[in-house]
Amino acid sequence: MTSSLSQSPDVQISQSDALVYWNSIPPTVNGMLGGYPQVSRIDLRGSANFLAKLLRQYPPPESQKALGRGVDCGAGIGRVTMGFLSKVCEIVDVVEPVGKFAAEVKLAQMTGNGRLGEIYVTGLEDWKPENRYDLVWNQWCLGHLTDEQLVTYLKRCSKALANGGWILVKENMSTNKDGIDIFDVEDSSVTRTDQKFRKIFEEAGLLIFKTEVQPGFPKQLFPVRCYALRPGKIPC
Ligand code: SAH
Repeated sequence: MTSSLSQSPDVQISQSDALVYWNSIPPTVNGMLGGYPQVSRIDLRGSANFLAKLLRQYPPPESQKALGRGVDCGAGIGRVTMGFLSKVCEIVDVVEPVGKFAAEVKLAQMTGNGRLGEIYVTGLEDWKPENRYDLVWNQWCLGHLTDEQLVTYLKRCSKALANGGWILVKENMSTNKDGIDIFDVEDSSVTRTDQKFRKIFEEAGLLIFKTEVQPGFPKQLFPVRCYALRPGKIPC
């Protein structure tokens, strides 16, 4: 019997093909954003607004003025690390499998643009968090993990959360009219539906505390959705 999982588009994902693709891409904002560098500013502002609303709704403990330690997962050249996370966290770790992108993040550190912590040059499927995080930021990279890898990865992230910490996911949404995920052969990734993400979060034991579609992006791009997650079970 063929399980529905084995028919899922994510079985086509090859992490080594993805690395070949990303190694061919220049370490620039344009490279990170697939030829739409102009969305970066809107994206970073949208993320800051989303987080601000989340923290107003669920305020951190009195003693905590800023978020302590964050991590930018699949960080690329550190567009989000420098442009947003370093402004809301005291220290930001970075996980990125492509050496030349990670090197770019280090350069930014040397010019003093951000408060950087550890840089882990590895894929998220292999990353074992060593620190406790107030914020685990995942943007435009989770499509490189299979559904099964993503569930396992999110469970590891849950365990690495500091008390009151958050897992944030900001990803493209599949607009396929039959509601299926879309495999992209060019960078060997899948674009998942909102429904699939919710199923994966549930399997990982995560609850959605807040979710919003990023406003103001060009119509020809996939809609982008932000989810704020914490471990927990739905009360029955
Ligand atoms: N999050 C950044 C970069 C997005 S580009 C931003 O928003 O600007 C996608 C990034 O995912 C690239 O840097 C690519 O190298 C990285 N990536 C590819 N495979 C990955 C994997 N298995 N685990 C984590 N990141 C991966």
